[in-house]
Amino acid sequence: MNRLNLCPICSSDRLRTFLTRHQVPVHQNFICADLDQAHAMQRGTLEMAVCDRCGFVFNAAFEPELLAYGEQYENSQMFSQGFDEYVNGLAHRIVAECGDGPRHVIEIGCGKGEFLRRLASSHAANISGAGFDPAYRGAESELDGRLTFHREFFRREHMQSSSDIVVCRHVIEHIADPMKFLAAVREALGDANSTRIYFETPCVDWILDNDVVWDFFYEHCSLFSRRSLAAAFEQARFEVVSVERVFGDQYLWLEARPTDTRTVPRFDTSETPQKAVDFQAVADRRLASWQQSLRELLERGPAVVWGAGAKGVTFSNLVDPEGTLLAGVVDINPSKQGGFLPGTGHPILSPEQLADREVVSALVLNPNYREEIAAQLQRLGLATTVVSLM
Ligand SMILES: [Zn+2]
Repeated sequence: MNRLNLCPICSSDRLRTFLTRHQVPVHQNFICADLDQAHAMQRGTLEMAVCDRCGFVFNAAFEPELLAYGEQYENSQMFSQGFDEYVNGLAHRIVAECGDGPRHVIEIGCGKGEFLRRLASSHAANISGAGFDPAYRGAESELDGRLTFHREFFRREHMQSSSDIVVCRHVIEHIADPMKFLAAVREALGDANSTRIYFETPCVDWILDNDVVWDFFYEHCSLFSRRSLAAAFEQARFEVVSVERVFGDQYLWLEARPTDTRTVPRFDTSETPQKAVDFQAVADRRLASWQQSLRELLERGPAVVWGAGAKGVTFSNLVDPEGTLLAGVVDINPSKQGGFLPGTGHPILSPEQLADREVVSALVLNPNYREEIAAQLQRLGLATTVVSLM
């Protein structure tokens, strides 16, 4: 294994490892068909390091070849009403900022095409779009050809005009060499200087500020602070218009434009590195206290984790690696139900199944969904109590 000794963003060697976990499942957003596949999930080492110069956080032991974003990869969150509203807000915002003239939107890493479809269908008929994702499965053309989907990486010849909008959501945190990726995007944009670029990615400061131990996992090898994200774009010859914290401060939303002027990136030398040091001091204690809380909850009756996404998978692997304590993990996405969690093999249940299993407690890992989940349990007439871990 080639351990990274230099920061992938600023090339500094002033790196500090603040979290090490061995034998973690490499995939979190992955549905296993049976217990054998769950237990046999490829594992890797998580060695989260922070750069003292720019505040970038990354897995220094990351091996991209261990990952396979294939057909069993499933990361749709659109089944949650709260998330759905959040994404609608983003789409509205893009349309509002870009005016109502005809626009062509390019989405890099379009997944199943949900965001592009929403942009094109719900707001303005004069939006067309092209989605690029080697893992895309589905029709190549939709809405009478206004949307096209391509199972490949975005390249320069895919640009249609300088008024294009480029969107890239929740991709860069999966990429081990973000500078190479941004250079490729910049190269593809050519001299299209009026193109608006929008990127969304988790905010590492939110994770560190709130001691969210389950938000460090293998798929996310590159985590940014507001400043390190801006610095990465500046180095790649973009002018950063803004970087905001969105979705209850959990994500960063960056707007940039291509520029030909090379700006000297401003590096953050203080905040994030210190937060990582503070996090290191509490992470193990946090984990031990959740294990204790779980044991106490189990005395009252069966417990589940709510959400078979990355947070739920990471938490379950941390507190119940043998899969013997939790009764399962609930997910409202029907394509996940009936499957098994990578690593632990916990069964993925529908909310309706909680009644048969007499589940007393549902552990909620993301505060943004707490009320929505409580309302859902109430609608189903279930006595299961929501236990918020944040
Ligand atoms: Zn750095």
